[in-house]
Amino acid sequence: MADYLICGGTSYVPEDGNTGAQMFASGEGLTYQDFIILPGFIDFTADEVDLTSALTKKISLKAPLVSSPMDTVTESEMAIAMALCGGIGIIHHNCNPDIQAQEVMKVKKYKHGFIRDPVCLTPDHRVSDVFEVKKRHGFGGIPITEDGKMGSRLMGIVTSRDIDFLEPNSDKLLSEIMTPFDDLVTAPAGVSLDKANEILQRSKKGKLPIINEHFELVALIARTDLKKSRNFPNASYDANNQLLVGAAIGTRETDKVRLQMLVHAGVDVVVLDSSQGNSIYQINLIRYIKSTYPELQIIGGNVVTAAQAKNLIDAGVDGLRVGMGAGSICITQEVMAVGRPQATAVYKVAEYARRFGVPVMADGGISSVGHIIKALSLGASTVMMGSMLAGTSEAPGEYFFSNGVRLKKYRGMGSLEAMECKGNSGGAADRYFHGEGDTIKVAQGVSGSIVDKGSILRFLPYLVSGIQHGCQDIGSKSCSMLRAMLYSGELKLERRTISAQKEGTVHSMYSYEKRLY
Ligand code: IMP
Repeated sequence: MADYLICGGTSYVPEDGNTGAQMFASGEGLTYQDFIILPGFIDFTADEVDLTSALTKKISLKAPLVSSPMDTVTESEMAIAMALCGGIGIIHHNCNPDIQAQEVMKVKKYKHGFIRDPVCLTPDHRVSDVFEVKKRHGFGGIPITEDGKMGSRLMGIVTSRDIDFLEPNSDKLLSEIMTPFDDLVTAPAGVSLDKANEILQRSKKGKLPIINEHFELVALIARTDLKKSRNFPNASYDANNQLLVGAAIGTRETDKVRLQMLVHAGVDVVVLDSSQGNSIYQINLIRYIKSTYPELQIIGGNVVTAAQAKNLIDAGVDGLRVGMGAGSICITQEVMAVGRPQATAVYKVAEYARRFGVPVMADGGISSVGHIIKALSLGASTVMMGSMLAGTSEAPGEYFFSNGVRLKKYRGMGSLEAMECKGNSGGAADRYFHGEGDTIKVAQGVSGSIVDKGSILRFLPYLVSGIQHGCQDIGSKSCSMLRAMLYSGELKLERRTISAQKEGTVHSMYSYEKRLY
């Protein structure tokens, strides 16, 4: 007879896997790699999964994705794309306060479809300059203005067709080849996107300059953008229908002036940017902000323990940023011997902070969609990413080639290069040094490069869809349900041995191509 135990029906299912509390009780620090989530029951489609999640007590996002305040990750272009796709971008502060405030304002003033800061040249530039712009920015239609800037009088336009048969090093003046102002079709400032679209369709041109009553260029609309132009049903808007945006600040006295400028620019949330956030400087600043700008949402951090979180929660933060030493460019754990493996940090802080209704953002160490799903499964409401978003066309900086590979710079804000950034009163160094008297800088990050990832507008929908599929496999219809499953013990997790981790990724192949979307 077969060696089966017959027990009249299937009502009995043995306990399997561990709850979060069981897995993190061991006292060992775990990373996202160290565990896996056991599958649940599916009775819904992936696109039904609701990813709405809280960034802070008062701000929620339709996609739980945040771009990191790093000078190679988030300026206005990234923040606009993040918000359009349902997340939010946090503008870095490694620059003068007025520049940071301008970046915030660009996001708040953004109108979909209008290019507000196109590259312009003057009639005295040469054909070779157009080729140079094309090489760097990848397009050929350039408005020609009196002084080569936006906001000055429009003189003409140079398009790809004007330079197609010319040598890239030609020194012909643009005034000789451009389509002059009198032959251009333009639209007046204030025109709606629909109307502008109609004019562009009728004109059969590639670009439509928008000018004010003084014939000055105020925006540009590109046919290619309109063709690409999609609806962004999940975009993150404030009550005035403007995109949401955040900004990072340090905890020095001078940051109060920066903060004031950011508030005037319309910032929705500030992130207090410290690698170790449990400090008297941060606590004092939180109290100051809460009494001076009671409506402004504050994310404090970084923290990795409940004890650190307690102090910031007591001071009044609206959200917590969790992570110390997990970032891809980070050497904090190596140099300072302080930090915590990220999965444990997220679980421990989120499990504590939920009692006070304070959402947690898992910051750093995310290198795949799976890591995002794991962070959310451990109690995080959102994830903050640096390397995942660096190297995209919306990240600051220009592409360059090395050994035939198209790259962009990506660097830690605690790298010497970022901290020594000249010509600004920015705050990369402030993130890593608490006292005013620190003279010798100790690097906590590295500087390097990252491959071209294309546009965020294609990448983020992949992330969103990937998270939805992960939730479906787990049997969770929403981010909040995922957290409920974690805390009820329904969500089951399991440690992975090193060989299990190897088994769980591609192996036994001679060669393969890994295309993700
Ligand atoms: P990534 O997503 O793994 O690349 O990590 C990005 C995160 O690393 C940021 O959001 C910061 O919290 C953190 N970070 C940024 N610069 C540094 C640094 O120089 N040293 C340590 N951590 C950093």
